[in-house]
Amino acid sequence: MKEEAQEVTLTSLSVAEALENILAQFEPLRAIEVPLMEALGIVLAEEVRSDMDNPPFDNSSMDGYAVCAEDTTGAGDNSPVALRVTGHMPAGAFPQPTDRVEPGTTYRIMTGAPVPPGADAVIRFEDTSEGRALDNARLLPEHARAQASHIGEDVLLYRSVKPGDSIRRAGEDMREGDLVLSPGVTLRPAEIGVLASVGKARVRVHRRPRVAVLATGDELVEVDQMPGPGQIRNTNNYAVAAQLQSWGAVPLNLGVARDSREHLEAKLREALALEPDLVISSAGVSVGDHDFVKDVLLSMGRVQMWRVRVRPGKPLLFGRLGEREVPVLGLPGNPVSSMVTMELFARPAIMKMLGKSRLHRPVVTARALEAMDYGSGRAHYVRGIVTREGEEYVCRPTGGQGSNLLTSMSRANSLLIIPESVSRVEPGDTLKALMLDWPEEVF
Ligand code: AMP
Ligand code: MG
Repeated sequence: MKEEAQEVTLTSLSVAEALENILAQFEPLRAIEVPLMEALGIVLAEEVRSDMDNPPFDNSSMDGYAVCAEDTTGAGDNSPVALRVTGHMPAGAFPQPTDRVEPGTTYRIMTGAPVPPGADAVIRFEDTSEGRALDNARLLPEHARAQASHIGEDVLLYRSVKPGDSIRRAGEDMREGDLVLSPGVTLRPAEIGVLASVGKARVRVHRRPRVAVLATGDELVEVDQMPGPGQIRNTNNYAVAAQLQSWGAVPLNLGVARDSREHLEAKLREALALEPDLVISSAGVSVGDHDFVKDVLLSMGRVQMWRVRVRPGKPLLFGRLGEREVPVLGLPGNPVSSMVTMELFARPAIMKMLGKSRLHRPVVTARALEAMDYGSGRAHYVRGIVTREGEEYVCRPTGGQGSNLLTSMSRANSLLIIPESVSRVEPGDTLKALMLDWPEEVF
């Protein structure tokens, strides 16, 4: 695309405007089929119905004895009823044509085993001579097993039961054909279990976004190197890739582009060859002598947005790259700025591509314990620590707020939002806190 044909929004946008612009560029990715365990944390893209009744048959919810409830009438601690044991029913067995609990008889039965015909209730071991012997003697397991009533012997029942007691009915969880999960549901461990129970070894989900991650800068060395004079380690690729991975995307680490047009162009072509859903670069988007990202994007695609009234993170860039118009997010270089702008702008876009219905982190209201004064004119996302005092959330900044101070990001569990219009927060003021984390010690 020609440079002069481009319309670049040079006015800086508010966080809300920038987010709206960015989100409008993304749609949920197409559905693909994956093995069940690869679906954890992503979004279902099909209706799932039960292929059978669950439980598939009436079964016992206790280890005990399957009885005709009527036989137990009047049974109590001092008036046990004796029944003749005529069969055993372990889990995994199924009643044969000859299996039947006749009045006056009982089957020993294990949890999950099918209830044999004739029986209409189960009485647990604890309420039989077997269980009582166990309680009284506190027997070791091998002795307990020796207490089991054998076929042909009697067992004493110390409690009366009603029809249906301790029986789990066929279809009580779901009936064949029932809708058990709908498109749009995020698959947590419970949903993975439900899918397993209806035989879904493979499942249709929205594809995970593939995101190329590129650092830029002549000063950068890799993480396993000791930086020489004037050098620093490439932190951003790792923090950004980790964010992406933790959100359900697939990071593709492209390493570092040097501060030259040629090398940056080559790296971006390398990125395009991976057919990513999004390219994320960091640094080189400001107005420094060697900040080429915007220029290169102008020649290899187009720039749709540059600069947001946010701190940290002002020189944020968004555009399109190559013929396929792959979205590009140019993050600022300072590690905290890149992580915060990832949270504010990349995460919602990733959530949208994943097909999630909720795109945003939870926000709580928290009372400031300290004054915060960082100047105004831009919305400030202060690295914060939210804790709880009784029923109320309270918050304080992490200390140093320089956008290069990555350890302060590590201490934070939240970003405290100071709106554009507010220049100073006094102790006792309430703030919105965007929770990066939902730490156990707070909630
Ligand atoms: P720039 O936008 O290129 O001027 O970079 C702003 C600041 O971020 C500079 O201090 C850079 O050294 C630093 N920086 C840029 N890229 C990275 C990176 N990948 N890891 C750590 N720091 C970086
Ligand atoms: Mg640079």
